[in-house]
Amino acid sequence: MNIQPNSVVALTYDLYTNKDGEEVFVEKAEDSNPLVFLYGVGMMLPKFEENLKGLQPGDTYDFHLVAGDAYGHKDEKAIADLPLDMFKDMEHPAIDSFIPLQDNEGNQFRARVAEISDNSVTVDLNHPMAGQDLHFKGKILEVREATADELSHGHAHGIDGHAGH
Ligand SMILES: [Zn+2]
Repeated sequence: MNIQPNSVVALTYDLYTNKDGEEVFVEKAEDSNPLVFLYGVGMMLPKFEENLKGLQPGDTYDFHLVAGDAYGHKDEKAIADLPLDMFKDMEHPAIDSFIPLQDNEGNQFRARVAEISDNSVTVDLNHPMAGQDLHFKGKILEVREATADELSHGHAHGIDGHAGH
């Protein structure tokens, strides 16, 4: 069947980002461990789904998403300087590492360390892929109708629909 709303899709992908005009490999899902998801319920980037619409098993795809259609543009307000003292109980943070932080309401989140100076650490709370154009390519392995359970849960239960959770 063709990819359409409420179908479960299994696919492989190679994901690249575009950094200063150069493609950088990010991650992949291969035949042995494909990405399986319920199509058309807002689990994936809308433009990602739009590019897959109508494809069927055996089809390959290859498309680009500009940052605004992917994880958005970088928000300069989401970059903050924190005093280095805050980190005295922790291992010294490294550039590009992720550190756990907590907001005033107790929500925990991870921030990327962008810069370290003598007395402060600059953290970036943007999505790691914000501001980047994405390039996806891969192959559709399977398309099937979602089961009633999958539709009521709003997610896929594995490639054969039996992995309940
Ligand atoms: Zn479930």
